Amino acid sequence: MEEKIKLGVSSCLLGNKVRYDGGHKLDPFLASTLGQFVEYVPVCPEVEAGFPVPREAFRLVGDPRHPRLVTRQSGVDATPRMERWIEKKLPQLEKEGLCGFIFKSQSPSSGMERVKVYNEKGMAEKKGVGIFARALMERLPLLPVEEEGRLQDIHLRENFIVRVFAYRRWQELLAAGPTAGRLVEFQRRHKLLLMAHGPEAARRLGKLVAGLGSRPLPEVLAGYRELFMAALKQKATVRKNVNVLQHMFGYFKRQLDGFEKGEMLSLIEEYRHNLIPLIVPLTLLKHYIGKFQQPYLKDQYYLDPHPLELKLRNHA
Ligand code: SF4
Repeated sequence: MEEKIKLGVSSCLLGNKVRYDGGHKLDPFLASTLGQFVEYVPVCPEVEAGFPVPREAFRLVGDPRHPRLVTRQSGVDATPRMERWIEKKLPQLEKEGLCGFIFKSQSPSSGMERVKVYNEKGMAEKKGVGIFARALMERLPLLPVEEEGRLQDIHLRENFIVRVFAYRRWQELLAAGPTAGRLVEFQRRHKLLLMAHGPEAARRLGKLVAGLGSRPLPEVLAGYRELFMAALKQKATVRKNVNVLQHMFGYFKRQLDGFEKGEMLSLIEEYRHNLIPLIVPLTLLKHYIGKFQQPYLKDQYYLDPHPLELKLRNHA
């Protein structure tokens, strides 16, 4: 991967002073840590649609499925202006080749879920989606998306980053010109990662690829892409990771002596009981994969699904 991965992001999260009150919502993890590995495409729907800084704050009003974007005090309906901007902006974003989008939570324009929507009596329910966020997610339904608040959770953070890097690999497969052989190889290298997220989906993907001879490639690709992204959206739990670790360990039963086997099994058990993070048993397994040059395991994406420097498996 020579070029950096492109991620869309709500502009205020990078420290840009675009909020209604002239402030920002700098997120240090996004700006400093993740920012080293990705190229951000900042988007502020309200400013780009032509609203000034500072400005009167907006809120969502009406039917939570189709709310209006309305100024808080004066009640001006800004929906048509925002929708005109969205119509122009979405094709531009599609061309950017984004591999994910990080939204600012609770925003009537950018919030991904549980945004307050007010009814005619002024009562709010957290059932809305920001106007821009909804349009983007409808246009690119498989694009990995998250909110900055949810990314504080280490498991949700790891899951999002895994999906972003996997989405990039999928885009690279498409750019290279997908063939049956390339899809088989793609599935093979993702097999353990898929097992760690969605074992059932991993089996279905395996069957889909096995049926390549009897169905047209475009049809298989379309089905594969949806199932692949849906599988990775499932959380990689301790139980599922233990299954994958044991599966990998099975490849070395003949090569390891009694002491080495005991050591490996105890690390897996310690991980199962939350005494050590995933990185510990995985590091020892990676050592054996390198030492014995295990051909099937050595290029599995499960081993390094994202940059080590993000330390996403040090706490999980
Ligand atoms: S939440 Fe969205 S609309 Fe509001 S300031 Fe941030 S980027 Fe702009």
